[in-house]
Amino acid sequence: EQREPIEEARPKTPVKPMTATEVKVNVSIPEAAERAAATGADGVGLLRIEHMVLSLGKTPTKYIEDNGERAYIEELVDGIRGVAEEFYPRPVRVRSLDAPTDEFRQLEGGEDEPREHNPMLGYRGIRRSLDKPDLFKHELEAFRRLFEMGYDNVEVMFPLVNDAEDVIQARELMREAGIDPEKREWGVMIETPASALGVEEMAEAGLDFVSFGTNDLTQYTLAVDRNNENVAGRFDELHPAVLKLIGDTIETCRELDVKTSICGQAASKPQMVQFLVNEGVSSISANIDAVRDVQHEVKREEQRLVLDSVR
Ligand code: PEP
Ligand code: MG
Repeated sequence: EQREPIEEARPKTPVKPMTATEVKVNVSIPEAAERAAATGADGVGLLRIEHMVLSLGKTPTKYIEDNGERAYIEELVDGIRGVAEEFYPRPVRVRSLDAPTDEFRQLEGGEDEPREHNPMLGYRGIRRSLDKPDLFKHELEAFRRLFEMGYDNVEVMFPLVNDAEDVIQARELMREAGIDPEKREWGVMIETPASALGVEEMAEAGLDFVSFGTNDLTQYTLAVDRNNENVAGRFDELHPAVLKLIGDTIETCRELDVKTSICGQAASKPQMVQFLVNEGVSSISANIDAVRDVQHEVKREEQRLVLDSVR
């Protein structure tokens, strides 16, 4: 079934400042797609699929056991498709599944989840996907079908990679699923110090982009649990160590012609926006409610840069 554009149904794009740095929006629930598109964002910088999966009420394994592989793939296709359609032809960066074991445990079938002392340091993101390729291939199959339907605005993003080995394995699974990495836009999240420090080696695998997940990058750089209120005062995305990792990564990526982006919560902080625009980030992706402010902050900062350069 091919996509049919629904031009009339789309809300009018509001007047927004033109900026060299793209401003995109994060979407976590497919139902929010219309509201997200109405912000005038240049695309979706992060579409999380955790909600689509967790709302099935069963772990993927249990869901497939009860309803079959096709039904699982269709759930993913339908959820992603709604967003890809709403934004077409603006790009929609879809991240593969990244739920920690403690979230899966609350679902039917969750009793089979491994018990972990530190779920945030454990079995999640690309680690889990690479460890269970027979399950991961359903997500890739969903991507393949969307491309086949004509949603060429869909981009593939892998979470929590550490090094080139992770990236190469993910790319090979993409290939095995019938997706040509040369023809599609794909990339990874920078969420661990290892991935920031190793970006050059990772880029050799043919990445088109990287996106800073500052929620995790901050947690892992500062060893501050993002969900622990006892250390919440120490959770600082603007910490010099975090900014150095981000700044150095952007510089390396610029030399390698790899696009850079941010999709963590820090994207809506004015100081982070100023820092990123100065470093030359390609795009900034913020939550729906923050998009307007980020658009204007980016504009202000770009103008400031121009004025500085002629002074
Ligand atoms: C992040 O880590 O900054 C991120 C965007 O991913 P999540 O919040 O889903 O872990
Ligand atoms: Mg993350």
